[in-house]
Amino acid sequence: MDAAASRKATVACSSCGRLNRVDLARATDRPKCGACGRPIALDHPLPLSDATFDRVVGDSEVPVLVDFYADWCGPCKIMAPVLDAVARARAGSALVAKLDTDRNPAVARRFQIASIPTLILFRGGREVARELGAIPRPRLEALLDRA
Ligand SMILES: [Zn+2]
Repeated sequence: MDAAASRKATVACSSCGRLNRVDLARATDRPKCGACGRPIALDHPLPLSDATFDRVVGDSEVPVLVDFYADWCGPCKIMAPVLDAVARARAGSALVAKLDTDRNPAVARRFQIASIPTLILFRGGREVARELGAIPRPRLEALLDRA
């Protein structure tokens, strides 16, 4: 087992919510959820919650970009396709995740999310950079390159 080639992360299944430990170096193999058997789409933003945030962000061996958003937020809808594209482009080398700030107020409060969307980049469980508001893709890529 080549440790250098392994990039592990804990991610929530977007179908059933169960946390799964996956090897991002093998993301193209379309890992399946251990609980419900559905494929875990690592090339789409992964849902986070108050319950799963610390596990997912803290356990990841790759940088994690979190989109703090809400369903009613117009600029968040503008960001959604940009985040989809970046999740696809960075699959295996970074995790792109999203947290609904209305449904998960504890994490939103902890990171003092005052406006949405807020994009925060984490590495080793710690915030390393953040951007406020909808930003174009090149700026989002530049944010990830800071990890
Ligand atoms: Zn599942």
